[in-house]
Amino acid sequence: MAEHESLEFGKADFVLLDTVSMEEFMANLKLRFEKGRIYSYIGEVVVSVNPYRAMNIYGRDTIEQYKGRELYERPPHLFAIADAAYKAMKRRNKDTCIVISGESGAGKTEASKYIMQYIAAITNPNQRAEVERVKNMLLKSNCVLEAFGNAKTNRNDNSSRFGKYMDINFDFKGDPIGGHINNYLLEKSRVIFQQEGERSFHSFYQVNVYLHLCHFHSSICLVVALFPFSFQTSINDNADFKAVADAMKVIGFTGDEIQTVYKILATILHLGNLTFGVDGDVTLIENTKQVSVIRDLLSTKEENVEKALLYRTVATGRDVIEKQHTTQEASYGRDALAKAMYERLFCWIVGRINDIIEVKNYDARIHGKNTVIGVLDIYGFEIFQNNSFEQFCINYCNEKLQQLFIQLVLKQEQEEYQREGIPWKHIDYFNNQIIVDLVEQQHKGIFSILDEACMNVGKVTDEVFLQGLDVKLAKHAHFSSRKLSPTDKSLEFDRDFRIRHYAGDVAYSVVGFIDKNKDTLFQDFKRLLYNSSNPVLKGMWPEGKLRITEVTKRPLTAATLFKNSMILLVENLASKEPYYVRCIKPNDVKSPLLFEHERCRHQVEYLGLLENVRVRRAGFAYRQTYPRFLQRYKMISEFTWPNHDLPSDKEAVKKLLQGCRFDHDVAYGKTKVFIRTPRTLFSLEEQRAEMV
Ligand code: ADP
Ligand code: MG
Repeated sequence: MAEHESLEFGKADFVLLDTVSMEEFMANLKLRFEKGRIYSYIGEVVVSVNPYRAMNIYGRDTIEQYKGRELYERPPHLFAIADAAYKAMKRRNKDTCIVISGESGAGKTEASKYIMQYIAAITNPNQRAEVERVKNMLLKSNCVLEAFGNAKTNRNDNSSRFGKYMDINFDFKGDPIGGHINNYLLEKSRVIFQQEGERSFHSFYQVNVYLHLCHFHSSICLVVALFPFSFQTSINDNADFKAVADAMKVIGFTGDEIQTVYKILATILHLGNLTFGVDGDVTLIENTKQVSVIRDLLSTKEENVEKALLYRTVATGRDVIEKQHTTQEASYGRDALAKAMYERLFCWIVGRINDIIEVKNYDARIHGKNTVIGVLDIYGFEIFQNNSFEQFCINYCNEKLQQLFIQLVLKQEQEEYQREGIPWKHIDYFNNQIIVDLVEQQHKGIFSILDEACMNVGKVTDEVFLQGLDVKLAKHAHFSSRKLSPTDKSLEFDRDFRIRHYAGDVAYSVVGFIDKNKDTLFQDFKRLLYNSSNPVLKGMWPEGKLRITEVTKRPLTAATLFKNSMILLVENLASKEPYYVRCIKPNDVKSPLLFEHERCRHQVEYLGLLENVRVRRAGFAYRQTYPRFLQRYKMISEFTWPNHDLPSDKEAVKKLLQGCRFDHDVAYGKTKVFIRTPRTLFSLEEQRAEMV
């Protein structure tokens, strides 16, 4: 139980609720939010509610309060968990990770930044220049990634449209010496389409600022307002542009690289202006002026640009022919090119940052063990009006993380009991492995069925995929579809199949699954970019080297790539000691005052927080080392106040608890006392309050 917090602010740890019910959980969460206590614990898990206002709890003085302290010594805070992860890494040589989850706008990215700032603030006491440089680059990399990976959405003005996992490496002194970033599933469709009220990635608006600033290609400036791939509004793009440009320089991007980045952004904007028409049976580009601008930006030949946009090279047996696109195919190709160029650019930026920040010349003999703290900031569960391939991937990701959470929390509990020599009691919980399998299993899983449908020789349509699902998953307890349950109201309109996720039912529309999974980019475009005389651009498209006849292998599908990246992510996290931050969004209007009960209840449900409390309480609600326990409670027993003369602290704690008749509710481990029910702890607290 966190000290220095009175019950007027509710219970700092949900484990201490009188009864574990949704009502009690919600009442406590609401009370704390209203009292400005945005952080709480479930054991060692931080529950955070987005305050939507500036909180005066991240400054230097607060950092000092948490530095080196134990979790329960101070009110719940991100800093406490960051410190716990740091201590585990430094004292016990453990790799640790902090997993931050929650829905869009819940405060994940802000949390990840506070955690990084905390770690930066408490390390490198000797101000070594090299370490300061690394810290600066790690913090600056956020700024660049946000420019290219974030966008204004209706849920969040600065919404991350990609998943991010960042490792920070430490030397034996506990100082940061480098890092590495993994990115997951960028929402590239945003490049060509945004919902009403949303924007494309920040970078496009920032490059507009740049184009105006330097009058580079005046034609671009003139047409900026017309770009259909983006539109104008101002989130201080001007100031952000300067900050990002500065950050890129600090990180070490060369002038040529930065120029190329802007040129790619400009190219994408111009692609958005291209329209196609027909003359007889010839498909043509209606606004040819755009083509010369694109040619200049890409440093290629004009004919090549035009040809790549209008024709497609296909191999038929031994012959290679050029097939003209219909206008529809040409538009499809243009959009695919814009999306692919942006995605490739984003991955390339991440790769460049990694080249620069990764630890070089690490010598374990000199530096000792190289340990890491990983921070995962990844999209939470999504249930929209219309759920498509992206939501399906994201929700699968959350199933994987939930599975890991279950395994690790249980495993951690189990290991602690073993370490302490306390008999293990089985805990009953819902194991979502069955849903993970439903999605990812070889042959029988939804991803496999999707890949199979994509490889079909005859008809390749979303309906064929849906039929495949109906046939293969008819009996699965967590799967249902319009065909399998025709009377199900939740499967009307564009909702074709439904999955019973651990977090609730989600109905998905199959429309676009095939296309998004195949994620085709014609080889002609890859060749076009590879043949650029700009070496930076060329370097981004190595596979453009291949001629059509040499392209034999089917590229891996989006689903397979995502699945593989998730499996690696989970393996990586599983090898580390995990800490969790669960973020909750209190309302949809960014208000600091509003706690929308139903909205929050739903999140508590699908984050599995009640389950979490149950798991935690099924064992022992509270545990503390003997000396610390005595420090807090010794005043309530004549045997321990002011000091005890028993042979050990353990004996003293026993004597104290026997005196209060709580003996039946506790177990004595090797170094810690375990208390089963929170009520016991309350009584101890009450008795203590009477004494002090
Ligand atoms: P997510 O990454 O979960 O989508 P963000 O971290 O981007 O959400 O947070 C969304 C917005 O909420 C932020 O831009 C900020 O305005 C507000 N916010 C989040 N966390 C805090 C916090 N700890 N203090 C103040 N405002 C916050
Ligand atoms: Mg975010």
